[in-house]
Amino acid sequence: MKATSRFFLLFFIMISCSLIAAGVSSYLLYRAALHEEENRLSDIVMTNALIIEEMVRFGKAHPSDYPGGAAAAALAQIREAHLGFVVMGETGEFTIGRMEGDSIVYLLVDRHSGEDMPSPIPWDSKLGEPMRRALSGLSGTVIGRDYRGHTVMAAHVPLPELGLGIVAKIDLAEIRSPFIRSGLIAVLLTVLVVVIGAYLFLRIADAVIRELQELNEQLGRNTEELERSNRELEQFAYVASHDLQEPLRIVSSYAQLLGRRYQGRLDTDADEFIAYLTDGANRMQVLINDLLAFSRVGTRGKPFAPTDCSRAVNQAIDNLAFAVQENGATVTTDPLPILNADNSQLVQLFQNLISNAVKFRGDDAPRVHISAQRNANKWIFSVKDNGIGIAPEYKDRIFVIFQRLHAKNEFPGTGIGLALAKKIVERHGGVIWFDSQIKKGSTFYFTIPDHGGNKR
Ligand code: ADP
Repeated sequence: MKATSRFFLLFFIMISCSLIAAGVSSYLLYRAALHEEENRLSDIVMTNALIIEEMVRFGKAHPSDYPGGAAAAALAQIREAHLGFVVMGETGEFTIGRMEGDSIVYLLVDRHSGEDMPSPIPWDSKLGEPMRRALSGLSGTVIGRDYRGHTVMAAHVPLPELGLGIVAKIDLAEIRSPFIRSGLIAVLLTVLVVVIGAYLFLRIADAVIRELQELNEQLGRNTEELERSNRELEQFAYVASHDLQEPLRIVSSYAQLLGRRYQGRLDTDADEFIAYLTDGANRMQVLINDLLAFSRVGTRGKPFAPTDCSRAVNQAIDNLAFAVQENGATVTTDPLPILNADNSQLVQLFQNLISNAVKFRGDDAPRVHISAQRNANKWIFSVKDNGIGIAPEYKDRIFVIFQRLHAKNEFPGTGIGLALAKKIVERHGGVIWFDSQIKKGSTFYFTIPDHGGNKR
């Protein structure tokens, strides 16, 4: 996904989360307020019911004071007490009603009086739901339509002895409106904060991205330059070692000819000088051949093809037959996989590792074992010997070209073998390392990626 799409997705997720959070918290607050309102309305109806019942009881105890009847007197007093008494916000009211025939008749409605009183409501209409419940003998709370057809939250209680119902109610819209208002403000603020945050983030990110892009371009240029100079160096090494072979061959063959023809015929100094000349020419030939092989890894490598590693190892052992025999070495192998690789480079790789294992031998006859293990999508090869071992501090050094740990009269060599091995492994996309103990032997490991899942 592109960075801008990712940014907009993040922006969208942040806005959505903030809106959901604002919505949920407003809703929870609204539910709490609704519950609070329910309790308040219930308290009002219960208190009024108690007062009315008390007044009626008092009236009945003093019948001479209330000739019109205790209930009628109590009702008249309550009505008087409620006159001009507007409770509960903009829309809240207290009502008393009773059944007359098939209709609900309101005797007291806080916000109405005289002519203005609501007209009776038929019992089976959808209006006056809270009063209908009270007159049906139910007490509790309800959300329903009142005598005006407005949806209200109401508490209702019956007064069965007086045939009355009491309702305290308030419009649901009035309870909701502060939460809708604060919810909308929260949503607006959230959107504003997220938009400003995103704008600031974009401005900062833009500068950072531009800086990173510049660094990336610089890196690309450096890598290109490095690759170019590497290619040039490889080419140079190849041309130099290739073109040096011819004059060297002439020096070497004439030195040999000189040796054969004049050995013992000149003085002893001349014999010694000819021997130095031949030896020097031979060593230079080995060095140039190794250098040529090294420069060929990158420039003359063949395309990868299915390669039987067991055959590559056998080929390497055949090439080393003389050294193996001379040292009385035993080379054993486990079954090895078939992999996509450059066959001749694999032969060269095994040859270098096996030849080192045989060359850097201890007192015992060399024993070399080659095996391979699959690990996820790569194979880990190991070449294990019982030779002189390598001190751990030379971990990285021995893979550098021309780096040797021994004098050439101790162990012959050019110091190119492991550098070449490393180059081959890296060309195949792997890594090389070793594990060793002085005088106990070394194990060289290298990996070759295998995405085909080849088995042995
Ligand atoms: P060369 O074999 O020509 O000396 P290499 O690059 O093959 O050069 O090896 C570099 C150095 O690493 C060797 O000189 C030797 O000291 C050390 N080395 C390599 N392989 C082994 C081994 N199997 N056991 C002990 N030392 C080793």
